[in-house]
Amino acid sequence: MVACERASAGLCGRPPDAPTNVGTWWTTALAFLRGLGAHVTLGGSMLGKVEANHPMWSAYLKMSPVRVAATRTLGTVSRRAYYGPLAPLRAGRIRKATPPGRRWVRVRNSVAGIAGADVARVYLDEDGRIALAALPRQKRIYLGSEVAGEVVDVGPEVEFLRVGDRVAYQLDVCCATRDIEPPCEQCAAGNYRLCANRYMSGPRGVGGGWGDEMLLHERQLFLVPDTLADEQAALLEPAAMALHTALHHLPQPGEQVLVIGAGTTGLLTIQALRVLAPSATIAVLARYPFQAKMAWQMGASALLDPKKDTEDVVSATGAQHLKGRGGAEMVMGGFDAVYDTVGSAETLERALRWVRAGGVVVQAGMHQARVRVDLTPIWQSGIRVIGAGGPGAESWPGGEGLADWSGSSGGRVSTFALAAELMREGKLTPELLVTHRFPLRELRRAVATARNKAEHQAIKVLLDIRSVAGSVTHTTLAPRRSTLA
Ligand SMILES: [Zn+2]
Repeated sequence: MVACERASAGLCGRPPDAPTNVGTWWTTALAFLRGLGAHVTLGGSMLGKVEANHPMWSAYLKMSPVRVAATRTLGTVSRRAYYGPLAPLRAGRIRKATPPGRRWVRVRNSVAGIAGADVARVYLDEDGRIALAALPRQKRIYLGSEVAGEVVDVGPEVEFLRVGDRVAYQLDVCCATRDIEPPCEQCAAGNYRLCANRYMSGPRGVGGGWGDEMLLHERQLFLVPDTLADEQAALLEPAAMALHTALHHLPQPGEQVLVIGAGTTGLLTIQALRVLAPSATIAVLARYPFQAKMAWQMGASALLDPKKDTEDVVSATGAQHLKGRGGAEMVMGGFDAVYDTVGSAETLERALRWVRAGGVVVQAGMHQARVRVDLTPIWQSGIRVIGAGGPGAESWPGGEGLADWSGSSGGRVSTFALAAELMREGKLTPELLVTHRFPLRELRRAVATARNKAEHQAIKVLLDIRSVAGSVTHTTLAPRRSTLA
């Protein structure tokens, strides 16, 4: 079975993988790792209590309507407004970061990524009229979902983690992190990010990747295998996201697909598709030349020229290009599938026009605005548009490229565990996308660099939190004094 082989290889990530029906394999894996003493530091405050009122330093958004409105107005004059005293973006010490439960752990961060979604939040890109804007929000939103660190304290009922474990942030709230039994239908199916209870009130994590520490439920974390460096561990999240996107709709052998967008998500999706469907032809539409260059390295088969992209689609797929009066265009034929990793009106419209009749458009971009798009190809050509969703548990074996690798007759496995295994084998290499590294004290510069991709030729920007923790957050390094129940 996949689980046993992965466990014996010491590569199993920890839950939440599927608490109801694949829990046994990772529990077995954990016992095996413990038996080896793998990345476990005994002693210290293991099995102790998480410290109360421990001062932390974190960047977060203070989402008051006044701050949002004022910053949006000032932001039309100067981009500095998004970092000014009225901006929602705040950074500083957090008082009384008290663990809300007995299965919570404290993580000292080591490396964090600047994710596009976080940058969009800093610059208040979200349109207040989209459906997501109706969801309940916290007044304080912590930033930094791509992060790795080390467990430095555990609550009294923590089962799966110990002090010294290296971990990566895996997910926000779901039934497992709320100790809800039995789990909802989506969690039972391994779709933790679609959990029916994810918006219910209850304890949430404190701190994010853009800070020195986090307090999280143990099930929000993935145990990082020793084979991955800290930077790789911090990039498990985007790697798992790309892997899930590719697995969500796998090309059939010999099919032609297109990836729109060549940022971190697009580039890793190209690489995941190349690994999972090696006989597929993978074209890419990149906005900038430096992205196109990286797309080749990630395994793209062809590049579309943004200045004559429709002509290139016709040339690559043998489709027929129809032009009507008034500038209307249509492609008869096209790609078997298109992965839109941007999600803007322009990219979605291209995806719908460039996919063949009966083809699939996978929407993986997280554009948070209403868009005006010509939807006629959907009903005219019977196109399926599917949302990529997010990492969780995947059906496995997953594709022509890895059927032999798994050696399994089928099952489910954690997306993070799969990503970690592929990274260990050098088949997924998110670390190659890192173009910039900043110490945490240069957070503003790091975010601005990620925002202005073309100017800085930035793909993935990382924060090195270890190098400056003392200078930025000296209070957090004070000796721990007490614990709480
Ligand atoms: Zn659930």
